[in-house]
Amino acid sequence: MIFHDITTLDTEGNTRKHQTVITAGAFIRSIAPCKGTIEEARQSEDDVYDGTGKLLIPGFFNNHSHVPMTLTRGYGEGLLLQAWLYDRIFPFETLLTEGDVYWGALLGIAEMLRGGTVSFTDMYMRLGGISRAVIESGIKANISNGLNGDDSTILDETAWYRETETVIKDAATSGGRLIADASLHAQYTSTPHVVEQLVRYAKDRQLNMHVHLSETEGEHRSCKEKYGKTPTRYFYDLGLFDVPTSAAHAIFIEDEDYPLLLEKGVTLTHMPSCNLKIGSGIADIKKWHDHGINVTIGTDGAGSNNNLDMIEEVTWASYIANGIHRNPVTFTSGELLSFATRNGALAQGRRDTGLLKEGYRADLAVVDMNALHFQPHYDLGTSLFTSANASDVCLTMVDGKVLYRDGNFTTIDIEKVIANATHCRDEKLAALGKV
Ligand SMILES: [Zn+2]
Repeated sequence: MIFHDITTLDTEGNTRKHQTVITAGAFIRSIAPCKGTIEEARQSEDDVYDGTGKLLIPGFFNNHSHVPMTLTRGYGEGLLLQAWLYDRIFPFETLLTEGDVYWGALLGIAEMLRGGTVSFTDMYMRLGGISRAVIESGIKANISNGLNGDDSTILDETAWYRETETVIKDAATSGGRLIADASLHAQYTSTPHVVEQLVRYAKDRQLNMHVHLSETEGEHRSCKEKYGKTPTRYFYDLGLFDVPTSAAHAIFIEDEDYPLLLEKGVTLTHMPSCNLKIGSGIADIKKWHDHGINVTIGTDGAGSNNNLDMIEEVTWASYIANGIHRNPVTFTSGELLSFATRNGALAQGRRDTGLLKEGYRADLAVVDMNALHFQPHYDLGTSLFTSANASDVCLTMVDGKVLYRDGNFTTIDIEKVIANATHCRDEKLAALGKV
C-alpha cells in the first residue's frame, strides 16, 4: 500500500508533512518525502491511499485489558474495586461460557481496531474464546488467564493450566500474532505457594508475566501488614520479576520499590481512566519515567473504564501528569506516543514493531484530522493527544493488512457481534435474577 502525501508522527516526536509511506507485505518498506501526484503513484501501485489531512502513526499497543469485559460495560457503576469485583463482576463472570467470551472479545477487538490499536495485552479466562477472536480478527495480542489460588492449589491440575497450555499451542500456529503469557491476578487473590508454582511454570515455558500490582491502597496496606513488605518486595522475593513482567496500575508503589522494579526491568502500565473512575487513586508516571521505568498505557477492561480508547487514555495520562507537576509539558508528544506504542511492543516481546520506521512491521493507524475539532490546526502531532479521540481513526493496519477503514471492518461482522454480546448480557442478567 502507498500512503500518499500523508503527515507522519513518529516516536521521536517529529511531525513530517507530505510524506510517502510504502508498505510491502507485513513491513514498512520506505518512508520518504512525497514526490509526484497521486495519479502518478496509482500508475505504480493499485492500492494508493490519499493522505491529505491525515496523520499516520504507529498503531497503539494497549498494554493491559480484559477484553471480554465489554460484556460488563456499565454493569456495576459506582462501586469501589473490591465491591465491584466481588458483588458484581465475579458472579457475572462465573456464568460466562467460552462462546460468550468469544463474542465479548470480538466486540472489544473491534472497538480497539476502530481506535487504532494493533495489539493488546490481556488477562482473562476461558482463553479459547479470546484466542479464536484474535486469530480470526487479525489483531495481535498477548493473552493470559489471571491465576487465583490458595495453599491447596496444584497448578497443573487447574483449568488455568489447561487453558494456558492450549494458548501456547494456538500461538505456535498464529504467525507470531498471538503470544501466550503467564499471569497472576493479584497478590491478594493468591498465596506464596501459588506464586512459586507460577514462576516455575513461566520459566519452564519461557512466558512473559502479567500482574495487577498495588492498585488500591487497601490491598497495598494489607500486604504490608500480612508479610511486612510492599507487594513489589513480596513479588521480588518470590521471584515473580525474574520473569519479564508487565505490572498494571502500580498506583501505590513506594520509593523503596523502584530499585527492585528497575533491577528486574519490570514494565508498568498506566490506566488513568479506570484509576479515576472507580476511585482507586492517581499514579505519578513522571516518577516512573524519571526512574527509568518502561512506561506503557492500557485501557483496562470496559467494565471499569468504560471504553477502550487509547487516545483518550494517553490524553488523560498527559493531563494528569501536567496537573500533578504543574507543568504543561511534562511529556513531549513523542514520549506520549512511545508510551502507547513502542514501549508496549517491547513489553509484549515484539521488538520488530511499534515504530514508524523502515523495516519494522506495518502495524499502523491513520487519524483523520479533517474533523471540526482540529480546525484550524497548527501542529497535527500535538493535536493527537489534545483534540483527537478514537473515532477520528480512519484506518488500522496490522502486519500490512487493513483491518478497519472508514467505518468498515474487513474481518469482523460487527452487527452479528453486537447482537451476540447483547444476547449474552440479557441471558446472564436473567440468570442472576437482575431482570
Ligand atoms: Zn485489570
